[in-house]
Amino acid sequence: MHFLYRWSKNIQTRLLGPSCVLCRAPAPLTQDLCADCKAELPWLESACRHCALALPATAAHRICRACRTRPLAEQAIAALHYRPPADWLITRLKFNARMPHARLLGDLLAERIAAGDIATPDCLVPVPLHPINLRQRGFNQAERLARRIARQLDVSIAMRGIERRRATQRQSMLAASERRANIRDAFACDVDLAGAHIAIVDDVVTTGHTVRALAACLRSAGARRVDLYAVARA
Ligand SMILES: [Zn+2]
Ligand SMILES: [Zn+2]
Repeated sequence: MHFLYRWSKNIQTRLLGPSCVLCRAPAPLTQDLCADCKAELPWLESACRHCALALPATAAHRICRACRTRPLAEQAIAALHYRPPADWLITRLKFNARMPHARLLGDLLAERIAAGDIATPDCLVPVPLHPINLRQRGFNQAERLARRIARQLDVSIAMRGIERRRATQRQSMLAASERRANIRDAFACDVDLAGAHIAIVDDVVTTGHTVRALAACLRSAGARRVDLYAVARA
């Protein structure tokens, strides 16, 4: 059935061109999203430069209250608010291994990064999954996104030697204090990152604990600057 669906979908794509993942209308060849749906996405227009938290367009500072004392990253870019239909697209990406979603979300984020006129990092580090979680899911959604971004920005991806030490329970099922304990020392970095400018890639940033823990790990391995690229910010 799945094969038949793919087969008919391939034929459809070849005859009619790609269709929009949200409304099934014809989409441009290079993107699985029609122009109307793209325009209506919940774009994050005004956000904290260190953690991408949404800020009012009229805010005097481009830095949120929390980041004034403890910035999450040097430069954070998130393309979308984590709300419909971005949350749906990300869920599809996470649990269905559907490549059109990785391609689409990766490219939307890459567009945002390119438009941001920011310093290009030396390499991207997708947030690693623990081997157990990776086996369960079959793929790392952050890596899928990073591959698209790496291609668009022409930068490399660093993954070897950067590991998640503990299988994490679904963060969303834990209380805030448990989340912090769960994520502490969650990562290990066995490579020399001396002087490197790195950008962490993740699908969605909620509390920021995961990013903070990974960034600390990368800095302790010598990273000079750690940025954050996420598809969506809750
Ligand atoms: Zn559409
Ligand atoms: Zn912030």
